[in-house]
Amino acid sequence: MKEKDLLARLGKLRTKSGTVETPLLFPVINPSIQPVSPNRLKEEFGFEAIITNAYILKKRYLNQPIEMGLHKFLGYDGAVMTDSGAYQILIYGGVEVDQAEIVNYQEGIGSDIATILDIPTGWKVTKNQASLTVEETLRRAKDFFKIKTRDDILWVGPVQGGRHLDLVTKSALEIGRLPFQIHALGSPTEVMESYRFDVLVDMILTAKKNLPIERPLHLFGAGHPIMFSLAVALGCDLFDSAAYALYAREKRYMTENGTWRLSELDYFPCQCPKCSRETPKNVLDKSAKEQEIFLAEHNLYACSGELRRIKQAIRDGRLWEYVEIRVHSHPALLTAFRKLKEHKDLLEKHNPTVKSSGLFFSDSEGLSRPEVTHYRERITKRYSHPKGSRILLLAPQTYNKPFHKASEFQKIQQVLKRLESSMLHKIHVCFYAAPFGVIPLELDEVYPLSQHDNATPVEDATIRYVASEVANLIMRSNYEAVTLIHDPQNWSDQVKNACKKSCLTKGIKFSHLVLKEDSTKNILTRLEMILRKNLSE
Ligand SMILES: [Zn+2]
Repeated sequence: MKEKDLLARLGKLRTKSGTVETPLLFPVINPSIQPVSPNRLKEEFGFEAIITNAYILKKRYLNQPIEMGLHKFLGYDGAVMTDSGAYQILIYGGVEVDQAEIVNYQEGIGSDIATILDIPTGWKVTKNQASLTVEETLRRAKDFFKIKTRDDILWVGPVQGGRHLDLVTKSALEIGRLPFQIHALGSPTEVMESYRFDVLVDMILTAKKNLPIERPLHLFGAGHPIMFSLAVALGCDLFDSAAYALYAREKRYMTENGTWRLSELDYFPCQCPKCSRETPKNVLDKSAKEQEIFLAEHNLYACSGELRRIKQAIRDGRLWEYVEIRVHSHPALLTAFRKLKEHKDLLEKHNPTVKSSGLFFSDSEGLSRPEVTHYRERITKRYSHPKGSRILLLAPQTYNKPFHKASEFQKIQQVLKRLESSMLHKIHVCFYAAPFGVIPLELDEVYPLSQHDNATPVEDATIRYVASEVANLIMRSNYEAVTLIHDPQNWSDQVKNACKKSCLTKGIKFSHLVLKEDSTKNILTRLEMILRKNLSE
């Protein structure tokens, strides 16, 4: 593994046909109606791996792929994954093969990555039905190890359970105990088609939490670039896309921000080699087959371009910011993104604590960021204010960072310098700041407390969070008095009210000065007065 960000990772997956980089997209190949040849997918489009359906191959081409070998049969020398036909069961009902047959067939053709014959749960099924699919998939998964004969193939153990999260938990826990090299999350296609990305977030993270974290996770049937970044951030390493070809057949043009019908476009919002040479009108004048090929090729470029951007965002430590941009493409994605609030601890557990770049906070969704969760955990459980400090002096965040070097703070510093040194160490300076809450002066250079930018004015939900963090600090500390430099213009009255309330509860003294109400000189004089008075009591 090379780099990590959130639950995403840039990794290497070794197959017998070569090592591939993850996150990885496998274009789905259907040999009988393939709009772009497998060889071109690798040479021109750079796809290091493809996926095809072993059930369809067996049904249509019988032993030919065994005799030729799968790679030669497809004319492709990259990594080839095969699916077992389980999805066809879901769509068309029963499949007339048993597991031993389809396992032997995948070994016979020489797949690099192969899948057991699981039973997809599907979307609109009762819990009882879902439970049966989980049990049967687990039974087959255990049985599989008695059937397989080759050790050079990476085998996929699918997780089922659909939207029934307790079943997903059971399925992931039990299949994770078996020696599969890769896991997959089954049946998200229907969830995605109905735009229930919020359900998908729960499904993915439930699976992720209960599987061995180091094994790659494949998200079956997630072929639209609009949701790649969110899925990668949640720890999906592998994807397959039949959508590039299916959409092309329906004259639909994919982008990372959504889908258009070709006939709706006056301009191509894309600079891929196809789109930069054509106009939508020209393409519409071509034959139906030519249109389909054009769209399939553009759709592939749209997918690979988005994956490259996601990989770069992982490298930059900027995946959260990248996902934030993308989820604003559709309200259903934003709804899903907001679900991350419920999974903050899991994100925090796996996110690297230090990154090469600073963080950008746009709005209150950022409160679910692992960096915020991590800081809150540390300051609540491991921090106590300096020994001997009796008075908490709270100042608002400064424009420049670190806070203690900012010009706004320098003025306060002048007041502090006027105090005798015996008084000075009794005062503890903290900043209230978005989105971290309270930042003690002595910590303000610890990453990422000074390495972030936030949009102003601070949103109401973030102000509420900061106010509650200020209150928490007062409640768990033993200050004798609190003095707040109150900035009503940027922070409304919420921080002040939270301070006042906690001081009242604790029975300690609270005083505040209002910024902008008075001249700076007057404020500083009053600050000195208050501090001296509090210290003399
Ligand atoms: Zn294009």
